[in-house]
Amino acid sequence: MVAAPTRAETGGGVQTFGNYIAGEWRPAATGETLENRSPSNRDDLVGLFAASGPDDVRAAVDAAAEAFETWGKGSPIARANILHKAANILEGRIEQIGRELAREEGKTLKEGIGETTRSVQILRYYAGEAQQPTGEHYPSVNPLTLLYTVHEPLGVCAVITPWNFPIAIPAWKIAPALAFGNTVVFKPASQTPLCAVRLVEALAEAGLPPGVLNLVTGRAGSVGDPLVNDERVVAISFTGSNEVGASLRKLAGERGAKIQLELGGKNPAIVLADADMDHALMHVVNGAMMSTGQKCTATSRAIVDRRVAGEFTEMLSKKITALRVGDPLDPETQIGPLIDEAAAERVAGEVQQAKDQGVSLLAGGERLRDGGRKNGAFVAPALFAEVDPSSRMGQEELFGPVLGVIPVDGLDEALAVANKVRYGLSASLFTRDLSTALLFAQGIQAGIVHVNSETAGAEPQVPFGGMKGSSSYSREQGKAAREFYTQMKTVYIDLPPAEQPSPGGRGSLA
Ligand code: ADP
Repeated sequence: MVAAPTRAETGGGVQTFGNYIAGEWRPAATGETLENRSPSNRDDLVGLFAASGPDDVRAAVDAAAEAFETWGKGSPIARANILHKAANILEGRIEQIGRELAREEGKTLKEGIGETTRSVQILRYYAGEAQQPTGEHYPSVNPLTLLYTVHEPLGVCAVITPWNFPIAIPAWKIAPALAFGNTVVFKPASQTPLCAVRLVEALAEAGLPPGVLNLVTGRAGSVGDPLVNDERVVAISFTGSNEVGASLRKLAGERGAKIQLELGGKNPAIVLADADMDHALMHVVNGAMMSTGQKCTATSRAIVDRRVAGEFTEMLSKKITALRVGDPLDPETQIGPLIDEAAAERVAGEVQQAKDQGVSLLAGGERLRDGGRKNGAFVAPALFAEVDPSSRMGQEELFGPVLGVIPVDGLDEALAVANKVRYGLSASLFTRDLSTALLFAQGIQAGIVHVNSETAGAEPQVPFGGMKGSSSYSREQGKAAREFYTQMKTVYIDLPPAEQPSPGGRGSLA
């Protein structure tokens, strides 16, 4: 079935988008909608989206629970075919969706296209993964026993995603969930529902049976809460803030749901005296500032060997000051707005507060409201020098274009400083020395470790996730996704007694 969203043209020609429940695009039960405005220009209304509530969530979980009865028992090959088809559909729309992403979320057109392209790759990767072995065959004490394990799907999964990667994060949660036989209720961030609609459209058009994937848009309290509290939702995959992650962890623990959390980061890039300075500069600036610093893997601390700290800080200052901040759809723009006015005010406020407390501000931090930036959430990329590692600037995730330089004496101090935060998502080291690289890779407390490349790089075929407060010990992407989205069954198939030549002693365990 080719399902198109509810697109009731209103007076101003603004499109209205519904939820996708049980294979149908439909408005919220109450008929209410939420406005979605571009962060680059508040006058630009991207669309109206279903302002859903508990009735919509219940209908979506009903549909997902019913669909699981057949989808979960179906062939992984059939699921792979649908994911392949969805990848092809999405691939044909990369330019359009990349543009919509830039308009809706605020990252540059190049990044929007890159993220949509990544989503295509993710769908293809999990189409392949769906066809990989589902378990292992073991020897048994009885030579003719067939003893094997099989990874089985969990059931109805809640996928709750943030706005900063509005199509790639949903893709890397939803594709494996479906590939391994689960059904999904997807609640995207309220700031980026259009990208969510586009991903669901591609999967629906590829032939997903009704109820296998359901999209419910709306606010956290009215959609997220009833979703995670529904007893039929057996697993929750969440990316977002540490505060919400902590409350979901508690809730899932209480009601015995499986949970996967991807939370914040305070990611360091260590630059040692022997590093190629130009190379380090490019990667530290890109890691800190691309996507306006709104990546959980963004670099927010440049931990620099004191011998080169002055020179490197000067290089950073020049490069950061020269970044072109503006309309993400303008090909000249390097840095777009923050996600909304509240985020821009918060980040500018954090910079001002640090400055007031005497931290040395070398560049940026102010709101930009001139010319084409007057209606957007723009903040000039900021650089602080001589940051105290134990200060707020050295410890807290600000989730914006703000970088602090922390001078240190050599690798040992760099590692100690890098590790002394509650997070452990990603980290980089810039050096030419192999033994230093190996010591760093061993000593750094981070789930994703780079040597000579930026903290934000990630490939979809390998596990992604953090240590300490950045995650819940689970990993996403690559083969790790199967661990989360399945449960293991161990099967002993013995011959009937008359045909069993020499029954072995299996033993029994409680
Ligand atoms: P961010 O700061 O990136 O928006 P949040 O943690 O606030 O991170 O939100 C991430 C996602 O989690 C969003 O889709 C949001 O609507 C949803 N969410 C927020 N609070 C809750 C909650 N209590 N229960 C379920 N989902 C929630």
